[in-house]
Amino acid sequence: MSNSPVRAQAKGAGRVPVESNSAVGEHGVSKQTKVTKRTRSGAAEKLPAEKLPAEKPPGEDRAAEKPPAGQPTAEGGPTAKTGPAGKARAAAKTRPAVKARPESRLAMVRRARKINRELAEVYPYAHPELDFRNPFELLVATVLSAQTTDLRVNQTTPALFAKYPTPEDLAAAVPEEVEELIRPTGFFRAKTKSIMGLATALRDDFGGEVPGRLEDLVKLPGVGRKTAFVVLGNAFGVPGITVDTHFMRLVRRWKWTEQEDPVKIEAEIAEIFPKSEWTMLSHRVIFHGRRICHARKPACGACPITHLCPAYGEGETDPEKAKKLLKYEKGGFPGQRLNPPPDYPGRPAPPLGASS
Ligand code: SF4
Repeated sequence: MSNSPVRAQAKGAGRVPVESNSAVGEHGVSKQTKVTKRTRSGAAEKLPAEKLPAEKPPGEDRAAEKPPAGQPTAEGGPTAKTGPAGKARAAAKTRPAVKARPESRLAMVRRARKINRELAEVYPYAHPELDFRNPFELLVATVLSAQTTDLRVNQTTPALFAKYPTPEDLAAAVPEEVEELIRPTGFFRAKTKSIMGLATALRDDFGGEVPGRLEDLVKLPGVGRKTAFVVLGNAFGVPGITVDTHFMRLVRRWKWTEQEDPVKIEAEIAEIFPKSEWTMLSHRVIFHGRRICHARKPACGACPITHLCPAYGEGETDPEKAKKLLKYEKGGFPGQRLNPPPDYPGRPAPPLGASS
């Protein structure tokens, strides 16, 4: 696949037929689905992510899922060309349409992994979008990123870290001075309490170092599982899934899960992908959510994974109009980081107050 930000797609061509009540995950499985699981893919349901059978080429998958000759395809069209199939096709015209078959768990897992592989080609430079130089800066920046953009945090933290470079410095700060520095990130009083509280805990309980264990991180003020996984994944190399608003929206659009609770989403996605993929998968999905698959108006007509997306058409499908919806480097705009990694193809973000 090309790295081009925009890949022209025939509308709906080759897209996966997934019903809105498609059985995905362990929850909300319909009666019909349970039968399907027992008779068709029961063994596959039990397989952990790492033990999934070797993937077949896409064509093979599709062939395996074709209904018998003479029965309508998932799209409701005939399949066989001659003989009895031709008769069946004629008969099918008089029968009520057969509903598309719900996607099996195995097919969904394969599709999910393909999306991850294709996103890796689209965003080979995916990375955390907060500027940081060490675990302490990443931890503080992640706490500050609640209810605001990473861009705003990146524009705010240089002054903060210049004045308070270590947990000891921040723990000993005058709260009103910290509040003034982080005011642009919003909720600055509560955030001041959190970052000074966590700096104090780091100083008093962890020798001034950020701990590298989930159970320690989540005990720090203002640090939940999401923040902890961001720090573990990006400052310590510990695999973790970051379930933020973009991640939640996209994995539900893609029918990887029907859960709404971030902890349950995290658990279900963890079963689909090997641990080694968790951190980069999170970055890729979040990159895609921020650049192309937006909350209100996804740019479907400029999306490179339409052929794998059950939600194609939720957004703008006209390629020219969709192109105008692209953000950051995909739309030719600056990114969120003032100091992006060297392989980032876009422009760095401007400092606070400067125009882009
Ligand atoms: S932009 Fe459209 S086609 Fe692409 S992932 Fe989002 S909903 Fe699917």
